[in-house]
Amino acid sequence: MTAVRSVVAGATVLFTDRSGGVSEGWFASANLSTQVGDDPGAVAENRRRALAALDGRHALGSAAGELRTVWVGADQRHGNDVAVIDAAAVALHRGGLAHEALPAVDVLVTACPDAVLVMLGADCAPLALIGDRAVGAAHVGWRGLAVGAVGAAVAALRSISPGSIRALAGPTVGPCCYEFAVADLNRMSERLGPHVEASTTRGRPALDLPAGIRIELAKAGVDDVIELGVCTACSPRYFSYRRDRTTGRHAVLVRHDPPVAQ
Ligand SMILES: [Zn+2]
Repeated sequence: MTAVRSVVAGATVLFTDRSGGVSEGWFASANLSTQVGDDPGAVAENRRRALAALDGRHALGSAAGELRTVWVGADQRHGNDVAVIDAAAVALHRGGLAHEALPAVDVLVTACPDAVLVMLGADCAPLALIGDRAVGAAHVGWRGLAVGAVGAAVAALRSISPGSIRALAGPTVGPCCYEFAVADLNRMSERLGPHVEASTTRGRPALDLPAGIRIELAKAGVDDVIELGVCTACSPRYFSYRRDRTTGRHAVLVRHDPPVAQ
């Protein structure tokens, strides 16, 4: 996996890409979604590899031993609902949950160091939020942006971790490739401001999703933002729904690392 791994104060964050997995065809090779028609066994192996990569273990395919951390995903709905993952929720996820049993949210926050929060995407932005005492993961596309998912995510994290928040924004469809109907673009512009209006490389009206996320983060008081700055539809390294329709999902994985007592 040539995933992008960031170790920052209080957290480890991994943005996966398509590489280093065992899925085939449209899902080659590191698809992490069970909801797109891929072989469940392949997805399970890809998730195991992603967790190992988060830990900084790159001996893929080897017997890496038992992982302490737990994959905590969501039934993503393009909304602004939030789930707070406490120890009881981590225990439920540790046993493995059917997709239908997952929290139907697009924002997860936790202070539990055993939980690895996961949000999947294939053009929508996977977002990591890092606080002093907790972390969050969010899935933000245009619909999430329109219903205030970014602000909801920041508020939820602040409720369990007051203080400063840093954001890491993953691969997402850029304005270069995100043609948008004028009426829809106008609505987004009215809600978020004119900076979300852009043009594709072919000169068509486009939504600047990364700009929208920056605007919403700034409104919520988060100015410390690191962006991967790569367009999923331009880069063959990433899954892109807009480009391929039938495709897999990459992800952001976020784990809270409490300071170690000296
Ligand atoms: Zn592009």
